Amino acid sequence: MANKTKFQAIKGTRDLLPPDTELWNRVEATAREVFGTFGFGEIRPPIFEPTELFARSIGADTDVVGKEMYTFEDRDNSSISLRPEATASVCRVYIEHGMHAWPQPVKLYYLGPMFRRERPQKGRYRQFYQIGAEVLETVQPGQGGPKDIPKDAAVDAEVIEMVMAFFARLGLEGVQLEINSIGHAAENCRRGYVQKLKAALEQVKDKLGPDSQRRIETNPLRVLDSKLESEQAIIAGLPKISEHLCDDCAKQYAEVKRQLDLRGVKYTENWRLVRGLDYYMRTTFEITARGLGSQNAVCGGGRYDGLVELLGGLPTKGIGFAIGEDRLILSLQEAGKGGAEAGRDVFVAWMGEKAQTSAIAAAQRLRAAGFRVELPPVEQKFGKALGQADKLGARYALILGEDEIATGQWTVKTLADGAQAKMSESEFLEKLKRL
Ligand code: ATP
Ligand code: MG
Repeated sequence: MANKTKFQAIKGTRDLLPPDTELWNRVEATAREVFGTFGFGEIRPPIFEPTELFARSIGADTDVVGKEMYTFEDRDNSSISLRPEATASVCRVYIEHGMHAWPQPVKLYYLGPMFRRERPQKGRYRQFYQIGAEVLETVQPGQGGPKDIPKDAAVDAEVIEMVMAFFARLGLEGVQLEINSIGHAAENCRRGYVQKLKAALEQVKDKLGPDSQRRIETNPLRVLDSKLESEQAIIAGLPKISEHLCDDCAKQYAEVKRQLDLRGVKYTENWRLVRGLDYYMRTTFEITARGLGSQNAVCGGGRYDGLVELLGGLPTKGIGFAIGEDRLILSLQEAGKGGAEAGRDVFVAWMGEKAQTSAIAAAQRLRAAGFRVELPPVEQKFGKALGQADKLGARYALILGEDEIATGQWTVKTLADGAQAKMSESEFLEKLKRL
C-alpha cells in the first residue's frame, strides 16, 4: 500500500502563493528601481557560507550565532550555515572579488531568504526574506580619521534617505525612523560606557528578569533593548551612551542629524536603540511601521567600519541596512495596499472548430501586446464560459462564434456591468489600452 503521509511545510516556513506573490514582486521591483536611482547594483551571494564567516562577524556570543543558526556538517566534514543575514556575505564578496579596486564607494543591494531558528509568530519566521543594501569604502593610505566625519555622515544620511524613499514609494503607513549612535569600541567611548552600564546593572540585578540578568555578563547593551514591562522604569534610570561618546563619535552623530535635516528626513532619537549584531558602531537606526503588533521593526541598520578588515580585508568602512520583507508586506496588506489586480484582462469564449483557430490567433496577438489572456483548451457553452470568466476576475470576455468569424466583428462583454458591444480587433485593442 502507498504511504499516505501528508507532507507539510516545516514549522516557521511558508509557501507564498498567488495573488500575494504579485505584491512580493511589486515590492521587489520597486526596491530595484529606487535603489538603482541611488546608484546601487544588485549582488546575489549564495545562501550558505562557512559557519566561521558568521561566527567571526556577527559574534559567537550573540543569539543569532549561538542559538538560531542552521548549521550542519557537509559531507567533507566542513561546517556550513544557512545565512542568518547577508552583510557578512557582502563583505566576503567585497574581499574575494577585490572590490577595493573598484570605483569607491561600492554600493550594493541584495534580496533573498535568510534563516534563523526563532519561535515562529506573526512577523517572525524561520525562513524570512530581507531586502538590504551596503555601502563599502576602503580607506586609502593617508585618508580616514576625523576629517572623514562629514563625508561618512552624509553617506549614512543618504542610505537612510534611500530606505525612506523606498517606503514612501510603496505607500507604507505609520513609518517611524529612530536613530542613535553607539559610539566605537574604545575606552573613552563605548567600552568605557559599557563598564559604567554594567556596574549600574549589577546594582539593580535583583529587579531584572532572567534574560537581562544573563546579558549583564554576555552583552549588557542588549538589556537596553528589553521589552519587558517590569524592567522599563529601571532601564529609564540607566546611564545613557550619548553622555559617553568620544568627541569624534559625538561630532559624527551631530552631523548625521544635520544631513538628515538637509534631506527632509524626519527622525526621533532613541538612546536605547542598540543592534543585535556585534559589528555595529556609531550610526544605528531602526524603522517601524503600522499594523505589525509587537514585531513592528521593518528595517534595521547601521555603520560597521572595520568589519571587512576583521574578515581579512583592507581597512574598510561600511554602512547598510536590512529590511524585513515579510513584515513590510504584512504592513502593506494590513493597510489595504496589497490589492492584487484582476485575474485576467481577457477571457476568450469560443465555440466551433473555425472559432478555435481564430481564438488561438487572437490570444497570441493579445498576449504579445502584454495582456493577460485565458484561452479555454476545449470549447464551452457561452453561458459556462462567461461564468468561468467571472470566477477568474476577467475584465472582458471576448466571444468568438460563427457570426464573429464571418463578419470580423468581435463581441466584447464587459464583465463588471454586463455591457456588450461589437467591435473590430483594433478597436478592442484600443479599448484594452485605455484601461
Ligand atoms: P527583531 O528585533 O525583530 O528580532 P533583529 O534585530 O533580529 O529584529 P535584524 O537582524 O536587524 O533584526 O534584521 C533586520 C530586519 O529583518 C528586522 O527589522 C525584521 O524586519 C527582519 N527580521 C529579522 N528576523 C526576522 C524573522 N525571524 N522573521 C521575519 N523578519 C525578521
Ligand atoms: Mg531578532
